[in-house]
Amino acid sequence: MTYDTIIIGGGIIGCTTAFHLSRKGQKVLLLERDKIATGTTGNSFAWANASVKTTDRTYHNLNAAGVKGYNALQDEFGNETPGIDPTGALEVVSKSDTDGYKAMQAQARALTAFGYANRWVSNAPPLRHMYYSAPKNELHILPEFNGGLKIASDDIDGMIIENQTPDHLRKMGQLLLDRAYTLLPQLTGTIDIVDCDLGIGVRPYPTDGKTIIGPMPDAKGLHIIATHSGITLAPVLGKLMAEAITTGSYPEMLAPFGLTRFTGFA
Ligand SMILES: Cc1cc2nc3c(=O)[nH]c(=O)nc-3n(C[C@H](O)[C@H](O)[C@H](O)COP(=O)(O)OP(=O)(O)OC[C@H]3O[C@@H](n4cnc5c(N)ncnc54)[C@H](O)[C@@H]3O)c2cc1C
Repeated sequence: MTYDTIIIGGGIIGCTTAFHLSRKGQKVLLLERDKIATGTTGNSFAWANASVKTTDRTYHNLNAAGVKGYNALQDEFGNETPGIDPTGALEVVSKSDTDGYKAMQAQARALTAFGYANRWVSNAPPLRHMYYSAPKNELHILPEFNGGLKIASDDIDGMIIENQTPDHLRKMGQLLLDRAYTLLPQLTGTIDIVDCDLGIGVRPYPTDGKTIIGPMPDAKGLHIIATHSGITLAPVLGKLMAEAITTGSYPEMLAPFGLTRFTGFA
């Protein structure tokens, strides 16, 4: 058997790239050592957005293109097949959290300048996806597409390492639940930690926080993608990588994100 392209890794990035290459008529082999989407992808919070990317316009645009990619998937397949739940998001900050309030105002200003849909409201009714910003109480809550809630918090994430003991994982899960109860008292007592799915996802974070996508220097025909926000970015990265592989040249939009930006790879 011969293949046009072999992809290593069946997470969202590998699968999306395989999808776009196949659409271009390529014969693709996808190698996955475990099961499809059981790595980081299967343990992701999976919020597709560009609203938290406000410091770098180029990176914001890449993420916004990812969100648009989901709109295109919705147009083609509907929401059910690709599992898209277009909730929007409500970011909540208390006025008494002066720094957090200022930061959210700056975020909103940047998004407006970038042309990214957002609205500043007071006393908004809760949306289905909520993000609470507080100095010691940050929390994300997202309803799962097929039932249940996903609860996450960046600081509690930071207390968990790979290969964590189940006991510690349960304790951290309980911490998340307690925080959710504080912010949403109506949830109190409705969720038992033993009924919760607890998983560990390892965040692929290049040191500058941005995507790595491009050819591997000195390895002809080898291309890599390593990225955080891969759920948001998969539609655009998979599509553009397929374009690069089939045409032999990388789209301009990806120019800032090559591995050669790091010392030792130039
Ligand atoms: C807690 C958490 C929350 C997150 N929240 C968000 C979010 O809200 N929004 C967002 O956009 N992103 C989010 N991310 C990031 C996002 O989930 C990742 O960027 C994305 O899932 C990465 O996908 P991937 O396909 O590159 O990696 P993976 O899903 O890890 O896929 C890689 C695959 O490669 C396989 N593999 C590895 N080595 C080999 C080998 N030698 N041979 C064969 N197969 C191999 C693995 O088994 C794995 O299945 C979050 C991540 C975490 C951990």
